[in-house]
This record gives sequence, C-alpha cells and structure tokens, in this order.
Amino acid sequence: MAKKVVVLGAGYAGLVAALELNKLTTAQEVEIILVNKHEYHQLITQLHEPASGAKKDEDIMISINSILGNKKIKFVKDTVEAIDKEAKEVTLGHGKLSYDYLIVALGSDTEFFGIPGLKEYSFTMKSVNQANRIREHIETCFVRYKSEKKDNLLTFVVGGAGFSGIELVGELADKLPELAAKHGVPASAVKILNVEAAPMILPGFDEDLVKFAKESLEARGVKFVIGCPVVQVEPGKVHLKTGDVIETETMIWTGGVRGVQQVIDAGFETEPRGRAKVDEYMRAIGHEDVWIIGDSCFVLSPEGRPYPPTAQIATQMGENAAVNLYATMKHIKKEEFKPVLLGAIASLGRKHAIGKLGSKMKSTGWLAYRVKDASKYRYLAKIGALLK
Ligand code: NAD
Repeated sequence: MAKKVVVLGAGYAGLVAALELNKLTTAQEVEIILVNKHEYHQLITQLHEPASGAKKDEDIMISINSILGNKKIKFVKDTVEAIDKEAKEVTLGHGKLSYDYLIVALGSDTEFFGIPGLKEYSFTMKSVNQANRIREHIETCFVRYKSEKKDNLLTFVVGGAGFSGIELVGELADKLPELAAKHGVPASAVKILNVEAAPMILPGFDEDLVKFAKESLEARGVKFVIGCPVVQVEPGKVHLKTGDVIETETMIWTGGVRGVQQVIDAGFETEPRGRAKVDEYMRAIGHEDVWIIGDSCFVLSPEGRPYPPTAQIATQMGENAAVNLYATMKHIKKEEFKPVLLGAIASLGRKHAIGKLGSKMKSTGWLAYRVKDASKYRYLAKIGALLK
C-alpha cells in the first residue's frame, strides 16, 4: 500500500520537498498531501515590494494548484493547529490527517523579544496580507496628512536593520517620494527612520558592502539610528533605550524571527528561539519519520554557526528531505545535508543591491540587483511556476 506523506507548509522548503518527492516516487509508492493555510505560494523574499506599493500582490503570489497541475500531490487548504508525533496525526482547522511520514515546513514567527507594546502596536511583514496592510496604512497616512498636517503621519519607522529591514527601507526610499507627488505633499515632509540595536546596520555583513548600502540609502533620505534598541512601543510613539521618543503612526518591525509554536507545542527538541534541532538528514531528533525543514529548524554549519533562515537554504533542505524520505522508504543510503551556499544579496530599492556571490565575489549596485532578480526567476523555473 502507498505510504502517506504529509507536508505541512507550502513555502520554499515544503513546496520544493513535495515537488521533489513527487519526482522521485510513483503513485503506488506514496500518496503526497501538501497542507497550506493559503491557496497560494508566497514569494516572501519579495514582500517589501508590495508593502511599499512598488509591486502588486499578484506579482508575488502563485496559485498552488497551478504549480501542482496534474502531479500526484493533493493540496489541502487548511491551518495546521497541532502535531501529535506519537499518534502520527496532524490536527488541522477542519479535521485531522494521519501520516506515515511527515515533513514540517511551517516557516517562522516574528521575534518580539518581550518588548512592551511591540507586538500590539507595530506592523510585521511575513505574509502578503501583512504587506497589504502596511501599504494601505501608508497610503492612509498620506491622505490624512493633507488635512491634519501632522509630522508623525509621514514619519515611517522600520525597527531592525537586518536584510529584511534594509530591503524594506530601500523600497520605501524609492516609493515614498512618488506617493508624496501623487498626493501633492512635499517629499521633504517624508521621514524614513531605520532603528538598529547593533553598532552598525546589517550586523555581521562585509564592511565595504555595508558602507555602500548605508550611503546609497542615506542619499535617498533614509536616516539611520544605530546602536539604539527599541525598548517600548505605544500608540503613536516608539521609545528608544537612549530615552528618545519617535512620534510616529507607523512602526514596522523586522527585528528577528523565531520558530513556530506548533513545533514547540508538539514537543520536538528545540533551541531557545523555538527552532527544531534536526539530525544530519534533516529529521527531528529522535523521530525517524519526521523531517523539519526551512525556517522551522536549526542547523549548524561545519564552522559552528547556524545557517541563516533564507529561501536559498530552505529550498535545499526541501530537496534533501525528499531524497532522505525516499531513501528511508527504499532502505537505501541517505544523504547528509550539505548546502551549497551561493551567497546573499540584499536589494536597496528598485535599482541597487549589495551582495556576496559565492564565498569571495562581491557585487554592488545595478549588477547585484540583476543577479538577485535572476535568482528569483531561477527559483520560479525550478518550481515550474507561471506567474499570473
Ligand atoms: P535579522 O535577525 O537578520 O535582523 C534583525 C535586526 O534587528 C538585527 O540587526 C538586530 O540587531 C535588530 N534588532 C533586534 N532587536 C532590536 C531592537 N530592540 N531594536 C532595534 N533593533 C533590533 O532578521 P531579518 O532581517 O528578518 O532576517 C532574518 C533572516 O532572513 C536572516 O538570516 C537574513 O539573512 C534572512 N534574509 C535574507 C534576505 C536575502 O537574502 N535577501 C532577505 C531577508 C531576510
């Protein structure tokens, strides 16, 4: 009888895992069920584009059914509520699913570090819906400014200057002057502030690339508040550790990510930020029938540093989990997870980017931007997606 494989989450890791497993197996061997809470796959690496209004939602949403076509993967649109690893059963919003093998790829949650008011009074950017809310709110701020003329309406604060924060301020720096013109508001009234706790933006990234990013963004009006943690947020106010208070109607938080609650609640072994520990074959520790991949897991590189939660690594984990699940079924040799790191590129708006390509090559400006764009199209080709 065919084994039942349930894949939770159709993000980069889960979708690729399901597609790879589909390629490796026959319908007699496996039944593959892919569960996702939306009926579309989201290119979450591009969320800053619809959030600023630079692109439309449809540009980063791909119907899961259109990707699956007539492949032997059954798609279930539902929310994963709980995993019972002993009973080998998943509870969804509308029922239960049993499994022989489980692949958990539920992504990550936002880390708020217990900062008072941050969760309640800031925007986050982890889905197309959230990006939409940001865009609509920004538009409303411009509309209100015309009658209310309050500076806080056009003061936009992004908390965190990691890759997500920097990519977002880059988009805002390019887009907000256009919005100002559209609403007949002077562009000089718009303030974009990026607040970062570490002594420099993009902590840990190469100094020369950081310098390029900072200068490019400052030239377009972004103000950095560096070495200055956000300590509290209340309606209309962002409090900094220095005692300074920023008056704003818009606080967007990109200060970090943590594992998802369903994985913690299921009792899988996790690290302090809630990401599951896995073995060299991407299986949950002590569970040879469960793979946990993408941002939901925690894997150390040979140098002892955790691999970053990127789409690039998530897709490779998806491939590896599929190969190892197949190897488990067939009792053949499994493959250790050894990612090929192609580098990291952060866009700085519509025209510029900074990036490391491979371990040594660096790129800045338009060329880096094109390389990042090309990597998106490579991914779309890989999943066989036809954008609407
Ligand atoms: P991150 O953890 O990389 O960055 C969060 C930033 O917020 C850090 O610089 C941190 O110092 C800062 N911060 C934390 N607490 C703060 C506070 N109280 N006040 C002010 N600043 C505070 O998070 P991210 O940017 O969402 O990225 C998550 C992961 O995803 C990273 O590994 C990143 O490399 C990856 N990513 C990659 C890309 C890309 O490759 N283009 C894009 C986005 C994210």
